[in-house]
Amino acid sequence: MKRILQDLGMEEIAAIVRDFGEKSFRGRQIFEGLMQGKTIAALPVPQPLRLRLLEEFEDEPVRIVKTFLSADGTKKYLLALSDGNIIESVLMHYEYGNTQCISTQVGCRMGCKFCASTLGGLVRNLTAGEILSEILVVNRAEGGSAKRRAVTNVVLMGSGEPFDNYDEVVRFLRLVTAEGGIAISARNISLSTCGIVPKMLAFAEEGIPITLTVSLHATTDEERERTMPIARAYKIKDILAVCARYFDRTGRRYIFEYTLIEGENSDDAHAMALAGLLRGRPCHVNLIRLNEVKERSLKAAADRQAYRFLGILEKQGISATVRRSMGSDIGGACGQLRASYLSSHTDDEA
Ligand code: SAH
Repeated sequence: MKRILQDLGMEEIAAIVRDFGEKSFRGRQIFEGLMQGKTIAALPVPQPLRLRLLEEFEDEPVRIVKTFLSADGTKKYLLALSDGNIIESVLMHYEYGNTQCISTQVGCRMGCKFCASTLGGLVRNLTAGEILSEILVVNRAEGGSAKRRAVTNVVLMGSGEPFDNYDEVVRFLRLVTAEGGIAISARNISLSTCGIVPKMLAFAEEGIPITLTVSLHATTDEERERTMPIARAYKIKDILAVCARYFDRTGRRYIFEYTLIEGENSDDAHAMALAGLLRGRPCHVNLIRLNEVKERSLKAAADRQAYRFLGILEKQGISATVRRSMGSDIGGACGQLRASYLSSHTDDEA
């Protein structure tokens, strides 16, 4: 694989172009062209410069392979990386804009029992430029530009554990929020982690005021260990402490995700325990209905119970919502699309 030009900021590109003996304003032109989602071959610079860049850099680090449109307007993009790996990204339409859900790794090694992304383990980390390119190509396909964005909000909730790919993810966050680029405000970005405490602690010091979201999914460490192997390493009380620190540093309210699983974490008693854990904290709870993964035996809690759970939290003074489920008719969420694409293609070869 060649290097990825989208990994670099405007200044870094200008330095490379100067090394080629070009004027540094070409650096800005290249950066701006890339932020419009253009390939190197389509950049508005002289051909010899384009050819020189193509010797060293991938023309199209992320390419749209296929799109799936849901009845509710949600669109799934199947994306190919230059080494042939496949990732997925989802665009959801809301009243306030379009939210894109992006992947940070090919596969995942966290092993959560309810999640499809982790079934085949981790294949590799995405680079910052690959993560950014997910947005650039989708923004362009949706008719947006760097100035008039079709993608207004971003959630790092696709395949992968963002903090298991910490350096590239932080670099991506700096690139995506940079002036002169696609410049999506940190306030419009959410990052979801399974709770890798030391990385969360480091992130609190980066000074990037995104919305920090933590996958809790249980009210005690013992329960959490049953579905999330990472819980053996990091305890709920440490997660709560680092969230409080993030709030001190950024003033940003944080979010806990809580996927309701039948017979596991969704009884009234769990709702009371969760309220006890979170009372008085500047946080919000996002209740998620489990997307049942066919390779796993876990079952979703009934919708009625989800709203009952919500009612208990609210009565206890906890801010909470049940997440709207979108795009479930086009292959479900959380890595299912990539998984089904990969298995159908392996079948073809067999
Ligand atoms: N690695 C990050 C991002 C994962 S995806 C993390 O763990 O937070 C975003 C959310 O979807 C997480 O809360 C994750 O636990 C949840 N999730 C994964 N699989 C799911 C499924 N099948 N049904 C419902 N939620 C799921």
